[in-house]
Amino acid sequence: MPDEPILRVAVPAPLYSCFDYLSPIDCDPGALKPGVRIQVPFGRGERCGILLELVQESAYKTRRLKRAKRLLDADALFSSADLALLQWCANYYQHPLGEVIANALPVRLRKGEVPVSLAHKAWQLTSEGMDQRPDSLKQAPRQAAIMQRLSNEMESLSQEALYVECGECRGVLRTLESKGWIKSDHRLMTRSVAKPATEVPPELNSGQREAVERVLAEGDGFGIFLLDGVTGSGKTEVYLQLVEHALARGKQVLVLVPEIGLTPQLMGRFERRIAESVVMLHSGLADTERERAWHEARLGRARIVLGTRSALFTPMPDLGLILVDEEHDISFKQQDRFRYSARDIAVIRGQKSDCPVVLGSATPSLESLHNAKSGRYHHLILSERAGGAKPPRLDLLDIRSIRLETGVSPVLMRMVGDTLAEGNQVLLFLNRRGYAPVMTCHDCGWVAQCRRCDARMTLHAGSGILWCHHCGSQRPIDKGCPDCGEQDLRTLGQGTEKLEELLLQRFPNANPVRIDRDTTRRKGRMERLFNHILEGKHSLLVGTQMLAKGHHFPDVTLVGILDVDQGLFGADYRAAERMAQQITQVAGRAGRAEKPGRVIIQTRHPDHPLMNILVRQGYDAFADESLSERQLADFPPFSYQALLRAEAPGEEAPSLFLDEAQSIARQLGGDRVTLWGPVPAPMERRAGRYRAHLLIQSDQRGYLQALLSKWVPQLSSLKSARRVRWSIDVDPQEIL
Ligand code: ADP
Ligand code: ZN
Ligand code: ZN
Repeated sequence: MPDEPILRVAVPAPLYSCFDYLSPIDCDPGALKPGVRIQVPFGRGERCGILLELVQESAYKTRRLKRAKRLLDADALFSSADLALLQWCANYYQHPLGEVIANALPVRLRKGEVPVSLAHKAWQLTSEGMDQRPDSLKQAPRQAAIMQRLSNEMESLSQEALYVECGECRGVLRTLESKGWIKSDHRLMTRSVAKPATEVPPELNSGQREAVERVLAEGDGFGIFLLDGVTGSGKTEVYLQLVEHALARGKQVLVLVPEIGLTPQLMGRFERRIAESVVMLHSGLADTERERAWHEARLGRARIVLGTRSALFTPMPDLGLILVDEEHDISFKQQDRFRYSARDIAVIRGQKSDCPVVLGSATPSLESLHNAKSGRYHHLILSERAGGAKPPRLDLLDIRSIRLETGVSPVLMRMVGDTLAEGNQVLLFLNRRGYAPVMTCHDCGWVAQCRRCDARMTLHAGSGILWCHHCGSQRPIDKGCPDCGEQDLRTLGQGTEKLEELLLQRFPNANPVRIDRDTTRRKGRMERLFNHILEGKHSLLVGTQMLAKGHHFPDVTLVGILDVDQGLFGADYRAAERMAQQITQVAGRAGRAEKPGRVIIQTRHPDHPLMNILVRQGYDAFADESLSERQLADFPPFSYQALLRAEAPGEEAPSLFLDEAQSIARQLGGDRVTLWGPVPAPMERRAGRYRAHLLIQSDQRGYLQALLSKWVPQLSSLKSARRVRWSIDVDPQEIL
């Protein structure tokens, strides 16, 4: 058979090539569409790959090709545009295409399982039900309402739609079913059910209106907009209006948020305002629930997709607008396996789908600001808070040579007391969870270390353990010093747990509450805590960066920031940017028109220039100054970087591998690319492995990309590569 087609398949494996197969036995050639999943033999087992294309010739002899096992889908899961985007990602991030595609698939589909059914349960009257006289149900109004509603329906009405119209009515349905008056079936609906909008939009202020108009003025096509609006300036209102315009033109909308915790809140706001089907996509959902939402979007039945990072890859046939909220947030960067930036790919997706992309933030990343200032992005500025609220006032509090109590200075403590006495709320921000970051022996100076990392164990008093925040290992708290046997173990420093303990003693009436990853682990817990705060059940809030995101606390009039100094001198050149974003975001949680907020920042470096610019002139001035520093130092966004990381149980292997990698890069890169290293990672040993890296930098993205595309595929064939785990991180966000 000379013209039997050859199937080019992307297989999830750490290999930089695609694989050719013959089609499965008895396979209908018409079913071989790019974008379907296909089960193929691979090594000694089988894998679930994606069919990319049919080709006539393979680099291998046809008789040496293996036959694929079977097709797994009747319809393509990815369109050719989706596949092109994924291919772009694989090239840009130097990651095997098969793994990039697997990453874009819901978990069950990745494993080769049958797609979930989208058929919904639906109800209709039985012939006996149709014979019932309406007044026979006078005593049971809910039953009557449902019978009435179903009698208006030609066929059956989905249970979901029934719930939207009549409220949750499972019990009533069961009763009617047992009477034999109604029956259920399963059917496929053409469109997901949309709940009616219940909220009227506010009139936009002039800044918001201008922002909306400028986006609309550019039309339906590709354009990038940085919506740079202070906290509370009404960015979400701008999003909502843009979404309505896109929906009215028959488009789908993709909305990305950094944290799962922010999705229900935003989802609620969308649902109250927009009468279209919204689906959520994030890792907090059950696998089938998430996959169902994915299919709804893929088939165009769901018109709005709201999700975290991975939702970016959801196939959407009518995509017409992409919104990235809190675009500066580091959660948009996936830090393991396939290391990508969802924000950056969102821009590429917008370009490929020819639709507008809006990046919003009160504290835009320096990358995005640079793009806006240099004219590549449209810069939309909302400089005032909506509804007349005043911006908070920021002050530095010098704590050099001051005795602190659990990290709190007497001045701040007094202000907390005064603010509570006035009946207002206080927020104390400490970005370190647990009780104390150090446990030590008072006699001999022993310090509790992680056995697998170059790091100290954090004491968690509530659960009675020592916990390494880097590798996750835990052990019971030592009873005595393992070195000298003395019993006098003490803690140094403080985490949120210890701070909460102090505040419970000092201000029991304020009912202090702690918000960090430890107190919000359980599902729905965070929502509950936030509601309690808004209802005024707690006047004193203690928390980590979780408090800095998304939520507004209008009755908070004092914010105390306990410890930011590590941001000024971090090993990472991005430390200052993150510190400034955190301070500005936390500060922005507070205050409203009649109750302006005050922010106290404790520091041992009150003269630090960047800090002073931030406090006196605000985030924009800080960003300008930081950008000029970055330009002088040739750091991104004025240069482009990639980081080659390697780790191994032995100390030698990573540097051997990196040395070899470096010499190949030298030959390939010429003088257009600078190599820094190899050097040990700032935390050399982590989770029992030694880590080192090599940083590659160029002043032009093109040179860097050209080097990477030749260099990275060669690395896997190095002998020294077999003794390490290595990865490449393009546009690294953290050098840990
Ligand atoms: P952001 O997303 O910029 O932090 P939001 O969109 O959440 O801001 O708006 C902050 C608050 O101001 C919300 O309570 C919102 O309802 C209100 N708000 C926004 N725009 C307006 C407006 N034009 N008129 C009145 N209130 C508004
Ligand atoms: Zn000791
Ligand atoms: Zn550890």
